[in-house]
Amino acid sequence: VVTTGPSPQAAGDPTPVVAAVDVGGTRVKAALVDRELAAVVSLTLATPAALGEPGRLVEAMALVVEQLATRAGQEGAGVDVVGCGVVVPGLVDEERGVAVLSANLGWRDLDVAEPLARRLGLRTVLGHDVRAGLLAERAVGAAAGADHALFVPVGTGIAGALMLEGHVLHVDGWAGELGHVVVEPGGPVCGCGARGCLEAVASAAAVERDYAALAGVHLSAEGVASRVEAGEPAAAAVWGRAVEALARAVAMTVTLTGVDLVLVGGGLAQSGRTLLDPLTCQVDSALTFQRRPRIVRAALGDRAGCLGAACLGWGVVR
Ligand SMILES: [Zn+2]
Repeated sequence: VVTTGPSPQAAGDPTPVVAAVDVGGTRVKAALVDRELAAVVSLTLATPAALGEPGRLVEAMALVVEQLATRAGQEGAGVDVVGCGVVVPGLVDEERGVAVLSANLGWRDLDVAEPLARRLGLRTVLGHDVRAGLLAERAVGAAAGADHALFVPVGTGIAGALMLEGHVLHVDGWAGELGHVVVEPGGPVCGCGARGCLEAVASAAAVERDYAALAGVHLSAEGVASRVEAGEPAAAAVWGRAVEALARAVAMTVTLTGVDLVLVGGGLAQSGRTLLDPLTCQVDSALTFQRRPRIVRAALGDRAGCLGAACLGWGVVR
């Protein structure tokens, strides 16, 4: 085992690692990750601007991977980078290695995997941040041992990933758009153009918007959660609307797919029981004959995407 630290004389063979990069709306999280999914070195950077321009994303990712290698050298970690996994949000075609669409990051049909592989001289794979995150949760997180699971990170937006019979569903990049299931017909307008999508009702951004409208004060979703815990009626009303919408979406998914595990992640899940207790209760009462899912908090937090990228990376080098 090679440890990170200032002693480069640590002898022995270099540790094989993959470079894993998770490109988010505001931050890029990257790490060199060993076979056991432990990060040997990691980096967090602000997401570079204009990633949608031709060649930008590939060049930015290549620089991040080089920075990781440099950092490993500085820390005296003997590593051998054997592959690379990159995950991005939005619509992703894993098969072709193309980032099809991200409204947030402003790209359309970016060819990533192949040009990056050429640039780095490494086997490289492109994946979807949430689907990859579910792979990581299954490997070393809260979905260990599960065969069927729904992973719903509830943050600024709401995404979803489904694992059924041990397989995370891709469906040409179209599977899992739980955030755009309509839970309140005629409800608030969503970024996608529809009304009443789950994301427009129950995301952290929606909770913040509703609380500001009702209480006249702008608070983070976390702040609203602590007012819920303190028993404030306005906060409870806003929270209740979000929980009800989430419960509806979870109950639909359970009915349609039979998943018996639901992992809730993202910023809203940080409130723990304040979200999970009423959610579990409402899903329970919405279901009749269906198998009750276990509803738990995702374990990996904001590392899920990066570790998921590592799972994908190891998948192509093995
Ligand atoms: Zn929508």
